[in-house]
Amino acid sequence: MADWSKLKSRGNVEDRRGMNPSVIGGGFGLVGIVIVLVFNLLSGNDPTTSILNSLNQLQGSTTVQSQGAQPSQFAGADQYETFASEVLGSNNDLWKKVLTENGKTYQPPKLVLFRTATQSGCGGATSAAGPHYCPRDSTVYLDETFFDELRTKFGAKGGDVAEAYVISHEVGHHVQNQLGVMQKLQSQNDPAVSVKVELQADCYAGVWSKSVASAGVIKPGEINEAVDAAAAVGDDRIQQKVEGQINSETWTHGSSKQRVQWFNTGYDSGSPAQCNTFK
Ligand SMILES: [Zn+2]
Repeated sequence: MADWSKLKSRGNVEDRRGMNPSVIGGGFGLVGIVIVLVFNLLSGNDPTTSILNSLNQLQGSTTVQSQGAQPSQFAGADQYETFASEVLGSNNDLWKKVLTENGKTYQPPKLVLFRTATQSGCGGATSAAGPHYCPRDSTVYLDETFFDELRTKFGAKGGDVAEAYVISHEVGHHVQNQLGVMQKLQSQNDPAVSVKVELQADCYAGVWSKSVASAGVIKPGEINEAVDAAAAVGDDRIQQKVEGQINSETWTHGSSKQRVQWFNTGYDSGSPAQCNTFK
């Protein structure tokens, strides 16, 4: 376990877990493609759709209402909420510093914890899509039971540092959104661009990991949890498991080797300037 209590900053986490989602049908139709950046799709669908469209189950009926009081197990700031808030807060500290140094203003993102489905600025957010970032409302959506799936179905070792890596990868997408990289993705609907966007988010997560390792939060050796998770969600690894074959033309996130390589580039250098995957 990393010593997260050393992190003093807190991020904006909204806890919607346990609130019954209900889909209001027949809503406004979505026009065009809504860009949603998913961590990687684990449900075995065609991976080419994973980055662009996590609204698969809910498209066309895009309003989800969360109803009812929250069950007591999620009441107050429970352990997971605190952990997510610490990871988000330390990301905010890092990226605020980096963007300020580059003459830009950093607006912190929000993180919503939910179960099953919830409303997002991009439509309906579902657990099936895995952790993801919606640029329209600058919010990370996370159902942390995803990490159980990562262990049981995809053989990742898991651990708190692995989970922090995933959250930081999503914050990496928020940084890209603030820097205008998202527009690049939108204007070029092309898997090669998608892979570059994803690998850069991995590299940014590596830069964050370095910042907390330097602060003594992550102990030497614990970083291997994040490296293991990055390898577990490589497109080749997932395709081999889900489809029994590998087709690099449909990759959206990069191979296990690429994801580990770019995470390590960020971690080893501690410098976002080294995360230029668009070369
Ligand atoms: Zn991503």
